[in-house]
Amino acid sequence: MHIKHVCIEFEIYVLSCQVYITFSDNVPIDYDIEMNIKSIKITLAEKDIFFLQVKEYTFEEDDVRDIKVYGNKLVFRAQLNSCPDKESSCFSFTSKYMPVLKNDEEVLITCCSCQNLFNSKSYSFRRVLPVEICDVNHMFCHGGTENMVFQPQDDDCYYDKVSIYIRNKHWTSSNAIKCQNCNVCLGVCVEYGLRLWLDSINIKFGNYDVQTHALPYDCFATIVDDIIKTMLGPISHIIMKYKDSENLNHYLLMKIIKKNEFAIALNPSCSNVLTLDRKKCSSIIWHTSSEFVEKWRNDYYVTEIQISEKMYLSAVKNLTEINNQFLIGNYSTGQEKSKKSYLFND
Ligand SMILES: [Zn+2]
Repeated sequence: MHIKHVCIEFEIYVLSCQVYITFSDNVPIDYDIEMNIKSIKITLAEKDIFFLQVKEYTFEEDDVRDIKVYGNKLVFRAQLNSCPDKESSCFSFTSKYMPVLKNDEEVLITCCSCQNLFNSKSYSFRRVLPVEICDVNHMFCHGGTENMVFQPQDDDCYYDKVSIYIRNKHWTSSNAIKCQNCNVCLGVCVEYGLRLWLDSINIKFGNYDVQTHALPYDCFATIVDDIIKTMLGPISHIIMKYKDSENLNHYLLMKIIKKNEFAIALNPSCSNVLTLDRKKCSSIIWHTSSEFVEKWRNDYYVTEIQISEKMYLSAVKNLTEINNQFLIGNYSTGQEKSKKSYLFND
């Protein structure tokens, strides 16, 4: 029996913390939790003893409450005696991937899943210009600011960190753009043309150079990073959505909490003494049921963001895994409930 991992979320303003410990096996009936100033001592079945410590934090002695056992998870609340002087900061992410489209060079776009050509004709872009995620709709609809009027021409290509925008007046629907061979969604039609996702396409140049697709989870993390950097308050309500090949919308509703005091320890060497590390962390309360979309739109200031099918699937997979790994996981039953996940820097 050993500890697989520990996660502690600190609520520094009320000097409290929530501790989640995941063991390799189910927690036995006779367990004991002992809070010392500098460590937490866990005793299982009177023989297995574990120590947890977090640098920079101290605990109130003998103050443990709300103890719950869920299979191999032991969850409880403890009081803090002191916190670090300096608050930690929020999750941040910088993608290594940037598109490198060039001017006046023949470009072919293919589906990254099956390599089928997206369009039999090649593109040649006269101007290739960077834009910020989410700004494009605003700029095209309202002409940008006084000093910066965007008047896209037919052969212009704009790109942000997760997509490219191709001006094309012949495509005017609000439908998903799907690969005609394998049906994966490659992008969406927008007012002025097409928006193709960088995690869903490969770009081939005339000289046979190929630029492979971005990683879907990196694109999702890039968008979250952008949201966190522009948040004015501590919480933001975000609806991410994608249109599948049948033009049905799928939603990921997220409350992003900008900053969390959080520490974890993984335990690959099965040690009995663990030191938890503070991480740059943000947390997300999320669910995927569409029935609350209208309520959110009415009740909150909501930012809605289009994402790709691949981003959506990788986000839900990763958020679910983090919830299962560190928190209580699948133990809630019945109607779909919100789940909590953490995004943190390694
Ligand atoms: Zn395909």
